[in-house]
Amino acid sequence: MSQGTLFVVSAPSGAGKTSLVRELIESLDGIQVSVSHTTRAQRDGEVDGVNYHFTGVAGFEAMIARGEFFEHAKVFDNYYGTSRKAVQTLLDVGQDVILEIDWQGARQVREQMPEAVSVFILPPSRSELERRLASRGTDEHAIIARRMRDAISEMSHYDEYGYLVINDDFTTALEELKSLVISRRITLASMREHHAPLLDALLSQAPSVE
Ligand code: 5GP
Repeated sequence: MSQGTLFVVSAPSGAGKTSLVRELIESLDGIQVSVSHTTRAQRDGEVDGVNYHFTGVAGFEAMIARGEFFEHAKVFDNYYGTSRKAVQTLLDVGQDVILEIDWQGARQVREQMPEAVSVFILPPSRSELERRLASRGTDEHAIIARRMRDAISEMSHYDEYGYLVINDDFTTALEELKSLVISRRITLASMREHHAPLLDALLSQAPSVE
């Protein structure tokens, strides 16, 4: 069984990353999003085991101590991490896997798996980012200003990634992400692994049976 490809997707809050990734996995077969562990509180509408594995701080730190995380980071006061075993199991059965993680986690992934494909998603403009952050349930200036600072801090790492997608028009951004996944599936190395019998048959000098 050939290995799947690991995709790392990062973005500031307000760039539309989660919606794009959701659509991407709905529109392609053979690709899944890894469910992270986090110590942050569960939000309304979130389901344990679907959006995240919600974990206590002690449990999370025990997982760190046992080396169970492929990557982990403290993001805005909470721990987030990706289970090594869960990701490896999916890659081993040939599934492509997406990690929706921050820049700190992306760095750790790159160090351990340089062949992983990393994408940073940007909003189309500063004013649009401000508008999207302001529309998230609060009008309080200090909260919006804090979100903006956090977003700028995340975006400052865009140049550590192999690919950039600007989410201005959603459909266009989605097509760009899809193209990226598909292009990785048709590399020479990947096609050789997946289509060895076809390549053998096409190149064989033996006459084919009529
Ligand atoms: P939220 O709490 O809004 O769901 O996510 C906050 C931030 O944590 C986002 O930037 C998200 O990409 C990041 N994040 C989510 N899961 C992981 C993870 O497993 N590892 C790392 N390093 N960051 C994560």
